[in-house]
Amino acid sequence: MLLSLISLLLVIAAMSAFIMFKIERIKKLQTTVDRLKKSVEEMDEQAKLIVRTDIELNRTQEELDKKFSGLFALQRLSREISTTLVESQIFKLIESASFEDLGFEKAWAFLWSAKENAFIPYLTIGYAPEDIEKIKPLVNAEKDAYLSLVNNGKTFSSISYPLNGPLHEKISHTFKAGNFIISPILPKEGNKGFFFAGTENVDSAITDADEKLITILSNQIGQALENARLFENTWRAQQELEKKVEERTRELTSAFEEVNKINKRKSDFISSVSHELRTPLTSIKGYAAILIEGKLGELPQAAKERLEKINRHSDELVHMVNDLLDIARIESGRQVMNMEHQDLKAIIFSSTDIMSIQCRNKNVELVTDVQEDIPAVLADRTQLERVFINLLGNAVKFTPEKGKITIRARSKDNIIQVDVSDTGIGMPPEALGKLFEEFYRVDNPINQQVKGTGLGLSLVKHIIEAHKGKIWVESKPGKGSTFSFTLPVLEEA
Ligand code: ADP
Repeated sequence: MLLSLISLLLVIAAMSAFIMFKIERIKKLQTTVDRLKKSVEEMDEQAKLIVRTDIELNRTQEELDKKFSGLFALQRLSREISTTLVESQIFKLIESASFEDLGFEKAWAFLWSAKENAFIPYLTIGYAPEDIEKIKPLVNAEKDAYLSLVNNGKTFSSISYPLNGPLHEKISHTFKAGNFIISPILPKEGNKGFFFAGTENVDSAITDADEKLITILSNQIGQALENARLFENTWRAQQELEKKVEERTRELTSAFEEVNKINKRKSDFISSVSHELRTPLTSIKGYAAILIEGKLGELPQAAKERLEKINRHSDELVHMVNDLLDIARIESGRQVMNMEHQDLKAIIFSSTDIMSIQCRNKNVELVTDVQEDIPAVLADRTQLERVFINLLGNAVKFTPEKGKITIRARSKDNIIQVDVSDTGIGMPPEALGKLFEEFYRVDNPINQQVKGTGLGLSLVKHIIEAHKGKIWVESKPGKGSTFSFTLPVLEEA
């Protein structure tokens, strides 16, 4: 009995131990199951996250694609409108480009006309004609509100303004748009205005990037308008200038013709007066000579002296009349110039030869400095000699004793330049401009003593110009003068 009790107890103990062991295993299994469950849950979470991220990525990709095509469209539009300088063309180009690529179906561009006190539409996209007719007056009914939007200078949109705001609603309603952006057009030159871009329905959301896009486009329109206005102004100014130049040219031509006519009349007058003077002068000189020679009886010494004075003055007058006649003849083109191949060096030497006695008498040194291989000139020898004699004559007259006169001749670029310089009394600056005018003489002590006509330099200038040359003078009082003239080189045939 005891034995069977003991064995029962042992069996019970063994079973209890077995049960405990099992319980322990079950607990462990439970923990493992829990851990697995948790892992599965975590994996589920991660899977969901991956799906969410994928959706998010897809959306971002779509947005990026939209932005890209918007930016691309904007770049295309900007390039197109920057190529035109005509105001009306700017809006036509936007109309004809695929504006919808910017992500908007509707657009308007209004510019303010101060003259008409109204906003004038320049561009309409995405509206039926009957809608366009309705929208125009609606905008102008609220022109003050739109003007203040423009003057505010900032882009205004469905997202930048609290939804359901009265202005927002009004704009949406006026333009029949779900969402919209209004950006001011502000050219520095010309009319300001605004650009409207709208979407068909409210669901097509607009973003900050869209606002930026439309702002850039409006700025580009403003810039293009400014360029067009500047171009128009420049073009108009140029037209006016051309008109003025034409008018001036006409005026100048007729003034020139008038001057020519007067000049011709003057030359004709001088020429006929000189002719008229020459005949009686010849008689006066003739009679004076007869009287001096005593052909009409011996005259007292005092009478002879007076007659000689008459003779001298008559000579001066003849000289003057001849110069005047020559000037008139060259001026009118009546003086025939015998243009021939001339050796300038020979002309200079023959002229200095003539003047050498006067120089020696006055103790003035006369130097020539002529380029060795100076080319030939096409000139009338007699006339060119007159130029040298006149210039050298003046140089001797206005150079005190122990002075120096230099004739220098050089050729450069098919032009020969001759300089006749002296170390004489020179001239004040105010005299230089009038020097080549007829009868002009500087008021100086030498001129007060020595007679002159003031015709020599005028004659010289006419001769040089008849040879297609130029003449000018440089001088300083007390330092001397340099008369320079040019002659064209004789071109090889
Ligand atoms: P004229 O010698 O008969 O007075 P010109 O026409 O030859 O007339 O010269 C005009 C004036 O120019 C002269 O009166 C003189 O005052 C000035 N002039 C000309 N050549 C010289 C010179 N080499 N030096 C100073 N003055 C000169």
